[in-house]
Amino acid sequence: MSTKHEYSFFGAVEKSFDKAAKFTTVDEGVLEQIKQCNAVYRMHFPVKIGDKVEVIKAYRVQHSHHKTPCKGGIRFATSVNLDEVMALAALMTFKCAIVNVPFGGAKGGINIDPKKYTPYELEKITRRYTAELIKKNFIGPGTDVPAPDYGTGEREMSWILDTYTSMRPGEIDALGCVTGKPVSQGGVRGRREATGLGVFYGLREVCNMPEMMQRVGMEVGIKNKRVIVQGLGNVGYHAAKFFREGGAKVIALAEYEGAITNPDGLNEEEVFQHRKKTGSILNFPGATNVENSNLALELDCDILIPAALENVINGENAPRVKARIIGEAANGPLTPEADEVFAKRGVLVVPDMYLNAGGVTVSYFEWLKNLSHVRYGRLEKRFTENMNARIIEQMEDLTGKKVVDQERQLIMHGADEVDLVYSGLEETMITATREIVDCWHANPSIPDMRTAAYVVAINKVATSYAELGIFP
Ligand code: GLU
Repeated sequence: MSTKHEYSFFGAVEKSFDKAAKFTTVDEGVLEQIKQCNAVYRMHFPVKIGDKVEVIKAYRVQHSHHKTPCKGGIRFATSVNLDEVMALAALMTFKCAIVNVPFGGAKGGINIDPKKYTPYELEKITRRYTAELIKKNFIGPGTDVPAPDYGTGEREMSWILDTYTSMRPGEIDALGCVTGKPVSQGGVRGRREATGLGVFYGLREVCNMPEMMQRVGMEVGIKNKRVIVQGLGNVGYHAAKFFREGGAKVIALAEYEGAITNPDGLNEEEVFQHRKKTGSILNFPGATNVENSNLALELDCDILIPAALENVINGENAPRVKARIIGEAANGPLTPEADEVFAKRGVLVVPDMYLNAGGVTVSYFEWLKNLSHVRYGRLEKRFTENMNARIIEQMEDLTGKKVVDQERQLIMHGADEVDLVYSGLEETMITATREIVDCWHANPSIPDMRTAAYVVAINKVATSYAELGIFP
């Protein structure tokens, strides 16, 4: 097996797309249109850093307009290039289709190492990037809605919002121009942990399916499953947290400086604090160091969750990976060569474009909240409480027993925003899992779950083209 990747990232997405297209009856021309990126904006802009002028290279790609607005995060990393942003934008289209979120796919990126800049400099870069997007109509609540991705978070989303509202004063739905904002700036409770929580809900559903567990020769359920998480960023941290809370054992955590293992399980928050204090994940009390971070991917475990960047598992290291299930929390962590190795070995790969869709699903909830100008639960609260008080009275009449305080609290407490977001996300991930697995079972020649997920996505996007027709 060659150690060199045969495909660029976008090439890998195209390859997976073509592999799946064979299992659809979609017209060839429509397939070609679905595959391409509709609009690519590559920009260079100057930013004053100290007394020097720096030229910043950045991108925004809108992959599909079969539904609008387009949606997708903005990445700050030195790996950012046109090919990467195109691939990530395409994945967003398929991701949104799979979880029935009515957006086309998009993605943005700025080629910088955010660690090399002060917050003030980062703010200038983010604001100038946003201004460029505004100038070219590549941002807006009805056109294209960015969100966080690798290297960005709530802080950057606030700067984007403020730049947008400053340049477009009086626009009534302006809050919906970006998602992943702080709750105090129109964000939604639960967005921060949404991607990691979605990864957990998706994998839990897969592990609860006897037929899927039979494929990999494992017991049903996630209890006591040995999990390895690569990447302790927002997605990895929350995936580890929900797995630990759900009864699994996180036996290894990996970051770029190295990895640590403990067969009894690691607590992600304690590891996070240790890393903050010492600057490294290594030397965590009670754990064993693995100096070469990549080796952590090859340790014995049940579920491996790559939650950092693309291409970390390829044709070279895939044969040494021991996990029976790989949950792609990152976008594109496996190359097509790795896919082939795992398909042959019967390793179950739960694909990115569905498994990490929790982020965009909750972004959709945030966007809806912004457009409706009201917090979830606010209008119903009083009504729900009155109804619940009546239910308690009826329960007491029927049973002749007083409802005790603790139960009363549970019943009276109307669903608040975070409950609604969590349950909406849970339902979304369960439905998407079943749809993909049903598609896979309906056609046994489909080789893997990724291909099944693409088939589901392609069919949905193609339905839009068929129903809307082609303009003019
Ligand atoms: N960047 C995230 C992703 O890759 C979230 C996108 C969004 O919320 O729009 O799915």
